[in-house]
Amino acid sequence: MIIAVDFDGTIVEHRYPHIGKEIPFAIVTLKQLQAEHHQLILWTVREGKLLDEAVEFCRERGLEFYAVNSNYPEEQTKETPSTPCRKLKADLFIDDRNVGGLPDWGAVYEMVTHRWSYERYLQGLQGNEEKRKTSFWKRLISSK
Ligand SMILES: [Mg+2]
Repeated sequence: MIIAVDFDGTIVEHRYPHIGKEIPFAIVTLKQLQAEHHQLILWTVREGKLLDEAVEFCRERGLEFYAVNSNYPEEQTKETPSTPCRKLKADLFIDDRNVGGLPDWGAVYEMVTHRWSYERYLQGLQGNEEKRKTSFWKRLISSK
């Protein structure tokens, strides 16, 4: 799938124009999704130097996006800084402004890989106290 991912408030805590701390398991989840052949697009309001800093922040942690604020690397989506951003042709958007907010990254991973809605994900937690209390990544780490 093509997955568009927001930066501020999604990959890192919202400290725009500064870069907040990484939200737990954001980068490892995105790298795992790439390893499973999902195509990731960074989709952010950041431009210029602030955008470069976000891209570099991810690159330093081993996360390279297929494209940044565009559908593919060569696409020119903005003619000038004031031109509105075009909508991406993504299958999914991961954004802290989702209805209901951003689930933890373990939930994001499970929903993407199983193609579950958030409602379906939550149904899977019912009656399973261990799953309800710990995220996918924490359970994975503790099982090793
Ligand atoms: Mg955001």
